[in-house]
Formats: sequence, structure tokens, C-alpha cells
Amino acid sequence: MGERTTIENALIVTCDEKWKTIEDGFIAFDGDRISEMGKGSPKQKGETRIDGSGCVVIPGLITAHTHLYGILLRGAQLNIEPPTDFAQVLQRVWWPVDEALSIDDAYASALSASADMLRNGSTLYADTYSGPNSIEGSLAAIARGTREVGMKGIVAFEMTERHNEEEARRGFDEGVSFIESVKTDPLISGMMSIHASFTVGDEIVEKTVKKARELGVPKTIHTSEGLVDLYHNLEEFGERTVERLYRLGLLGPDTCLAHCVHVNEREMDLISQTDTRVAHNPMSNMLNAVGVSPVPRMLEKGITVGLGNDGWIYDPFENMRCALTVHRLASGNPSQIGPEAVLRMATLGGARCYGLEKEVGSLEIGKRADVVVLDGMNVPTPLNKVSVLGHLLNTFSGADVRDVFVNGKQVVANRRLALVSDQKVAEVSRNSAESLWSRLN
Ligand SMILES: [Zn+2]
Repeated sequence: MGERTTIENALIVTCDEKWKTIEDGFIAFDGDRISEMGKGSPKQKGETRIDGSGCVVIPGLITAHTHLYGILLRGAQLNIEPPTDFAQVLQRVWWPVDEALSIDDAYASALSASADMLRNGSTLYADTYSGPNSIEGSLAAIARGTREVGMKGIVAFEMTERHNEEEARRGFDEGVSFIESVKTDPLISGMMSIHASFTVGDEIVEKTVKKARELGVPKTIHTSEGLVDLYHNLEEFGERTVERLYRLGLLGPDTCLAHCVHVNEREMDLISQTDTRVAHNPMSNMLNAVGVSPVPRMLEKGITVGLGNDGWIYDPFENMRCALTVHRLASGNPSQIGPEAVLRMATLGGARCYGLEKEVGSLEIGKRADVVVLDGMNVPTPLNKVSVLGHLLNTFSGADVRDVFVNGKQVVANRRLALVSDQKVAEVSRNSAESLWSRLN
């Protein structure tokens, strides 16, 4: 059973299938799972009791696609010619960074990006790490940084053949041995990751599909994020990106396609028919000026969509707000997408992207106690059962995250990390960034 924690007097938004909301409610967890939830107060008080008066309790938000090492670039002045398209963003920014990364950077960025996500209300991320000169041991270093702050992570090494086939093979081996090493880990799991269709040949994709099935783990790939991916596939194979991935057997419910910006009706039909999942990264798409993913159309087709940050802004509330607004702007329709659809992406949608919907993504009895307490003190209008969904998209931000629990353990208390000092995390991360920046310039 484990220690009992109760959060009382709170407005609870379960984010379950029926959007059940409980006013003046309580939630209790014994050990790592939610054991009781309801109106009023629990019969048996917890050893740890949290007063949730004036607060909103939601499930831990899920970051369905990220690159933890992106945090080391905050404020960096790179000595490069400004990129004018997405291919140049990769060539001039990300690929040189990838190459400069060390195992220490993998650790430091996992520590600080996990801390940043936790303090902003995200309790689980799906990361893919890319570092051709720091392959072996990188995933264990990421896992170590993540565990130190108490976050959950799905960790993967991003295979690419942009230099040679050997680096993909080493990335494959790193992924496989890591997956086996974390089989019973309560916080960390592994998956297989391919960078993108345009940086790999057929063979490694087919090998990955087979291995992921054998290991029973999800897989992920950047899919038509920029036009470079689409054009490469059209030129090389006479197929659009999703058509090629379909031919190679990559699509299916165990696969999460990141981005899907340049996909047409036929590709969305293939995604829908195969029940493949999609991770939407609206802020990153805007930052890199790659275009707008047709997410409202995907939702109409019944495609499961999660919400990611792609290694840029780690506050899930900012990403939700952007998902709400960008599709309205792009369509000229102020009702194009609503708060429920966006909050769904950040909760159960993200869980479904990786087959974890029975464990996380909503507050339900028996599920893992990944719980976020938002301080409603500064909400300027009535905060109740009816208004709360609107507030979650229009009012709250990561700065309102007061307490966070992961597997029933408190990891953020009163806006500070509970397991390690915020100051130490910042220090480790700054040292790592300083050294990385000097190697880059
Ligand atoms: Zn990405």
C-alpha cells in the first residue's frame, strides 16, 4: 500500500472520458496509485495532508514529444548565418549542437529540463536524444538526471544515417540495451526512435519495426515536419512521407509520429486506418516556421493526438494555449478548436500516444498518482465546475503549479523541487551549457 496522501477541499478536474469534475472534493493515494476520490473529505486522513482550498487539481500533463537537450540552448548566441528554412535550421543549429553534445550534457539537460517540466505541471515526457559523438551511455545519463528530480520519462536514442550507417547501428544498440535495463523501473521506460524519413534508408526502419515489436515498446519518428522530408521522399521514392512509412510497416498503434505538418488527406487516412498516433508541437512549428499541422482535421478523422514541446518551451500551459490559437488563426475560424480538445491532447491523448492510457493521463481510481495542484489564488473571475475548463486554457500557467506528485511521491512542494535543490539543478545546467557553447563557437 505505502504511505497515504490526501489532498482536500479542492476543485478536481479528472480529465477522464466524461470530464468528471468534483467541487470541494478530495483525492487520496496510497503509495503510487489513486485509491479514493470524491466530494467532502476522506474517512481516513493521509499521513501527508495537503489543503487544496482555492486550488484546482488536475492529472500530471504529458509532454508527448521533446528533446531535453534543447534547454541548453536557452540564450545561446550561435555564431552562424541565420537559417532561412527548416533544412538550414537543422544544418546550422541542431546538427552542430548534436555533434558537440557530451554524456555530461545529456545528464545535465535531463536534470534541468525535467525540473522545468515538473515545476510547470508536466509529469511525463517522451524524449529522443541525438548525439553522434556521445552515443553509448547517453540514455542511462538521461535516466539518472530524470530520476533525481522524480519525473517520469520515455527515453530513446534517435537513429540517423546522415553521416553513415554505422552511427544508426550504434544508436540502435544503445536503444536496445537501455530498454532492457529499465524494464522494471517505476519512472523510466524506453522506446525506439528514428530521426526522420529523409535521414534513413529502408533497412534500419524495417529493423526498428521488428525490434520494437519484439521488445514490446513504442517507436517514434519525426514526420514531415518541414518540406525537406516530403520532397526527399517524393524525389527518392515517388511517395509522400507517410506513404513510405506505411510501406515499411512503421505505422500502427505503437507508433507516434512527431509533427505531421505536411500531410495530405490520403496520409491522414493512412494514419487513421492504422490507428497511428501523432504528437503535435505547435510552438516549435511556429518557431521554426515550418507550417501548421492539420490537427483539427486529424481529430475529425479520429486520430489520437498528443501535445509536445519539441525541446523548446517546456511549460505545457503555453503549449496548450498555442494549440488553441494557432489553428484558429490558420483557419480563420474562431471556433476551430476548443479547450476540451486541447486539454485532451495534453492528458489522455499523450498517454495514448505511448499506450499508457490505463496508467496515466487522467485522475481515476487505480491509476498512478501523477497529480498537479494549481493555486487558484489569482484567478480574476469565479472558479468553479463550469468555469474551470476555460481557466485551464485562458488563465492558468506553469507559474500557478504549486505541488506536484509523481507515483504518489511529492516532487514539487510550494513551487520548489522537493527531491533536489532548484539551485543545484540550475548550477549543473549552467556549467554544462557554458562548456557546450564554448565548444560550439
Ligand atoms: Zn523533435
